[in-house]
Amino acid sequence: MAHVLVTGGTGFLGSHTIAQLLTAGHTVTTTVRSLARRPDVERMLTVAGAPHTDGVSYLEADLTSDRGWDRAMAEADYVLHMASPFPGTRPAHEDEVIVPAREGTLRVLRAARDAGVKRTVLTSSFAAVGYGHERTGRTFDESDWTRTDGPGVSAYIKSKAVAERAAWDFVANERDGLELTVVNPVGIFGPVLGPDYSASIRIIHAMMTGGMRAAPPIWTNTVDVRDAADLHLRAMTAPQAAGQRYLALAGEPISFHQIATAVRARVGEAAAKAPTGSAPAWLLRLLATVSPALRETVPQLGVVRRASNAKARKELDWSPRSNEDAVVATAESLVRLGLLNG
Ligand code: NAP
Repeated sequence: MAHVLVTGGTGFLGSHTIAQLLTAGHTVTTTVRSLARRPDVERMLTVAGAPHTDGVSYLEADLTSDRGWDRAMAEADYVLHMASPFPGTRPAHEDEVIVPAREGTLRVLRAARDAGVKRTVLTSSFAAVGYGHERTGRTFDESDWTRTDGPGVSAYIKSKAVAERAAWDFVANERDGLELTVVNPVGIFGPVLGPDYSASIRIIHAMMTGGMRAAPPIWTNTVDVRDAADLHLRAMTAPQAAGQRYLALAGEPISFHQIATAVRARVGEAAAKAPTGSAPAWLLRLLATVSPALRETVPQLGVVRRASNAKARKELDWSPRSNEDAVVATAESLVRLGLLNG
């Protein structure tokens, strides 16, 4: 059994991953921006059904500061670097997300190198793989990179591509074999564990609370958070995963309309407000001229990005849940935890 440092224990993926590590018998240290969040993480671990939740060590560390990282690594065999800014709205300036994502990743890697950590697994994103390209019908895989100067690349998308590039460049310049593995999840869904849920969950929340009257013509890829966490655990120890990227997705893209239909069909009354109809792209483009929030979605209208999960399936024996199971699990958890009123 190993000692694992998980950065960003308050996060959606971070908390699920700690729960799986504990279940697998590992010991865990996690970094949080403020120790005041410790009870929130403990509650989430309890909701996840994790054993030995009182055995997790908590340390303060922020991606924007050097303070705390050396101490966080002190006993770690492995590091799962999951913390990164994931804003639900457009930042005033792109550097608000790009700088912490990139500099934080480098801080973590430097500290991991100095502490002799066996392997760091970086949570990157499909945002570092499949954006900024002209429309294409091809299927993206681990050899693809987002073009950060291409069309429709938001600050968040850029932050993930820039941070992952910086990580690979850093390890390439290290002579003594600092191991890096990268997981690139698509939109993460699945059960939330508490009220501070990730920006990706807001889509389902908006559908269920009447905040999305008609489904926009947007397609997304999904992965269940439990499968994303599971892939990180596999990437952490599999010898063949050193130096590799792995896309984490359920399968084929799913439209917002299909998500709404699945949630209505399987969650019942609590999902009665989920949209039944679709909003035409021309109307959304028109509304976007007066709505900054809608403006962010315009580049995604009608774009279908296919990607392959074959590498993770083949090399790491990974077997994810379906799109429908992932989004329905989100909806059910929002109902179960009474989070539809907030
Ligand atoms: P989340 O719930 O918003 O978690 C983000 C985590 O990063 C939180 O623990 C947050 O801490 C931490 N963080 C943000 N800025 C920080 C800073 N300056 N210093 C230290 N910690 C900071 O989102 P998530 O979905 O779990 O995301 C986890 C990882 O998966 C991220 O790297 C994200 O880019 C990636 N990812 C997510 C998705 C998705 O659809 N959710 C898809 C692909 C990749 P606080 O709680 O203190 O804010």
